[in-house]
Amino acid sequence: MGRVLEIAQLGHPVLRKIAEPVAEIDENIQQLIDDLFATSEAANGAGIAAPQVNVSSRVFILTIKPSPRYPDAPEVEPTAVINPEILWVSDNTVKDWEGCLSVPGIRGKVPRPDAIRVRYQTRKGDTMEREFAGFAARVFLHEHDHLEGLTWLDHVEDNRDIVSEQEFMRALLD
Ligand code: ZN
Repeated sequence: MGRVLEIAQLGHPVLRKIAEPVAEIDENIQQLIDDLFATSEAANGAGIAAPQVNVSSRVFILTIKPSPRYPDAPEVEPTAVINPEILWVSDNTVKDWEGCLSVPGIRGKVPRPDAIRVRYQTRKGDTMEREFAGFAARVFLHEHDHLEGLTWLDHVEDNRDIVSEQEFMRALLD
């Protein structure tokens, strides 16, 4: 069973470290993945990366579905991603809203490629190659950033693209 863990907040040094590759998908990694799923679900996240729960390993999960935080999200099957590589990104970029469980209270418009091809290991140890587009590509790249010590704030082009969560939600309801 997954445990709901405390989420590291912006300013915690673990969020700025380059995460270590996973050498062996052992019991600890399986428990970590279960904990990441439980933690992201409890917080209505679209995904969460291991550094966000203070584990500097190259692991993240995607929990992409409509939720109170992301009412317009598509539905993607829950996915655990280990040792990801970005193989290709589209030239076409799209600027759209992001938030982060480690950056509470604000949302921002972030430019990202709108399609990507990636390779990663599953929790069973299989190597997968997949393409993601739209919001799923955005979440994948956002979580991948956490393994590189980056947050969405590092991609914002203009401070005016940052808003409070309250104003963001108000605009959604308009
Ligand atoms: Zn994040």
